[in-house]
Amino acid sequence: MQSDREICWGGRDFKFISDAQRDWLRACASRGFTVPTWPQAYGGAGLDAQQAKVLEQEMAAIDARPPLVSFGVSMLGPALLHFGTDEQKASYLPPIARGEIRWCQGYSEPNSGSDLASLATRAESDGDHYVINGQKIWTSYADHADWIFALVRTDTNTKHGGISFVLIDMDDPGITTKPITLISGKSPFCEVFFDNVRVPKANCVAGENQGWTVAKALLAHERQSIGSASLMVSTDDRPLRERVVELVGLDEGRLAEPMLRASVAQWEVDKAAFDALVEQAQLEYRSGGGSPTTASLLKYYGAELNKRKFELLMTAAGNDGVEWRDVDGGSTDLPRSWLRTKANSIEGGTSEIQLNILAKHTLRLPGA
Ligand SMILES: Cc1cc2nc3c(=O)[nH]c(=O)nc-3n(C[C@H](O)[C@H](O)[C@H](O)COP(=O)(O)OP(=O)(O)OC[C@H]3O[C@@H](n4cnc5c(N)ncnc54)[C@H](O)[C@@H]3O)c2cc1C
Repeated sequence: MQSDREICWGGRDFKFISDAQRDWLRACASRGFTVPTWPQAYGGAGLDAQQAKVLEQEMAAIDARPPLVSFGVSMLGPALLHFGTDEQKASYLPPIARGEIRWCQGYSEPNSGSDLASLATRAESDGDHYVINGQKIWTSYADHADWIFALVRTDTNTKHGGISFVLIDMDDPGITTKPITLISGKSPFCEVFFDNVRVPKANCVAGENQGWTVAKALLAHERQSIGSASLMVSTDDRPLRERVVELVGLDEGRLAEPMLRASVAQWEVDKAAFDALVEQAQLEYRSGGGSPTTASLLKYYGAELNKRKFELLMTAAGNDGVEWRDVDGGSTDLPRSWLRTKANSIEGGTSEIQLNILAKHTLRLPGA
């Protein structure tokens, strides 16, 4: 797994950490491998779900790094392929596939997180433009993004039916970003302020007041990605048992502490079962199937699994686990990654909200 610094996010101002990183992006993009299942016309390789899976396995077999990680690839692209006009697809998808434009997600607001549809950022009509005023919060990497896909209110008389999904250039006059520092000491997300920002109506996806449908489809995709651990960045991707053994050592060929041994074994079994479920869900999704409740299930369980993993590692590490700096004064990964996992059950919709969705739509519990 790559560290945050090693990930290729792309974008107008992206600084490659090496020539190899830049060449790898270009080589993959030229073959459509940054977005293998997208049509060739939009920068993809036109692969079907099975072929994409084979490509993924072959890349993993040679230990190849993902050429590009971005919200354009994982969130906006799939939504545009489904809901965008031909002009929108032709204009926005190829630069995403080539890693030229970096996107961020402007959904949450200070008083609209779990109850997202209560959002208040206002888009008022002015000829063929909207004039946007309001504030977003927790916008990951907004300070590095070139564009933002945002939910805005175009009708105040109705809740879900008054929301539109618009694409906004972060260079437009009237947009400011303010980073927020996290418990881990990092600052990966921002507040974003819109002050009379003029956006062409042509940048509205799926039509005015149709944003909630786009938002839900995109969220399902985001939840599936988070659940399948692709966003759970740690610099150390070795199997859990290997890391635990490194921390506590072996006694006669096995972990001496029975409780720790059992917990690690249980985690490995649960992870194997979860991986199989993720693989099945991805195949369904790539074939055009899959349901929003599967995404909630994966999101909930993936977050719990990742949190359990880091609790176990911290237990194994003992007092050393909380060392914030190594002997050379550099940042230590374990405590920072452990703290980062606390956000897994919040980002992309909290665990409580995923459980509500499953209770209502899958279990059909009365009163849910
Ligand atoms: C690392 C990270 C990255 C993020 N990146 C982005 C981003 O790029 N773009 C973006 O738009 N947002 C982003 N978010 C915001 C995220 O989507 C919200 O934090 C999340 O939806 C919860 O909203 P909230 O923080 O307002 O909490 P609230 O909605 O205020 O919830 C507070 C608590 O109340 C509980 N709760 C609320 N309603 C219910 C209910 N009906 N039933 C049961 N419990 C309930 C919640 O589960 C939670 O525990 C990010 C968050 C994190 C942690």
